[in-house]
Amino acid sequence: MVWTFSPKAFAKRLPGKVIYKAPVVRIEQDAGGVRVVCRREGAHQTFSADYLICALPFSVLREVEISPPFSAKTRAIVAEMTYGSVSRVFLQMKTRTWETQGWNGFAVTDDPMEVWHPTHNQPGLRGILVAYACHGYARRLAAMPEPVRLSHTLDRMERLFPGARPTYETGTSHCWDDDPWTRGAWAEQSHWWGLSPEGRIHLAGDCVSSHSSWMQGAFESAWRVAHEINDIGTG
Ligand SMILES: Cc1cc2nc3c(=O)[nH]c(=O)nc-3n(C[C@H](O)[C@H](O)[C@H](O)COP(=O)(O)OP(=O)(O)OC[C@H]3O[C@@H](n4cnc5c(N)ncnc54)[C@H](O)[C@@H]3O)c2cc1C
Repeated sequence: MVWTFSPKAFAKRLPGKVIYKAPVVRIEQDAGGVRVVCRREGAHQTFSADYLICALPFSVLREVEISPPFSAKTRAIVAEMTYGSVSRVFLQMKTRTWETQGWNGFAVTDDPMEVWHPTHNQPGLRGILVAYACHGYARRLAAMPEPVRLSHTLDRMERLFPGARPTYETGTSHCWDDDPWTRGAWAEQSHWWGLSPEGRIHLAGDCVSSHSSWMQGAFESAWRVAHEINDIGTG
């Protein structure tokens, strides 16, 4: 059996339950239940439930209207959570010139930047080199218009792997600071010890776990909130 681990594989197992292109814009609760308002196909759609697990990154949650507002403590944590910056630039090269020079295409530079060659085990002549920048360098890349970002990265690759430039075909990039669904790469602090449910709303995500910035943290928080809700009425 072939296992596929991806969000899309999860979604396939939940037919009709995952709704795309419907950003949450408002969350409200009262004694009777909780409601989530989404923007969908130009209109607002409301979903009602007894309880809500909210796994939005805090960087996004702080833009969502919450009624009544969370407690002062939770509001402060949501507002002040900082997120790491990451930018990745992908360059497609016609040939893997670096391999003919004895390099495998992986490197760490002083910028600080990592260089990856994710196509190293794929057949064919072409190769993709990836610049993986964090922190301040990621923000510098994010501030550049995409064509400048690509040519800047190509310059860096040429210095690392002389002769690579003439084989460049095309490129693309992703800067997580500019991604509207994350507004940053990963949560930099863990608040697993200090956040209680806000009424009917249970907060999840790597930012409310003991392993912020890791998928493991997101799973850990999912496990915790599932127990919190299961235990309601039995505890
Ligand atoms: C470049 C990069 C490399 C990484 N490498 C690793 C690694 O090697 N190992 C590792 O363990 N972790 C890694 N991480 C971190 C990992 O991706 C996160 O820790 C993890 O995804 C956090 O899970 P989460 O469910 O809390 O949040 P997310 O995965 O960010 O999920 C939040 C979800 O909310 C959705 N959303 C956002 N806004 C709205 C809205 N308004 N309405 C509805 N939905 C919305 C988003 O689309 C997203 O699906 C990496 C992250 C990045 C960016």
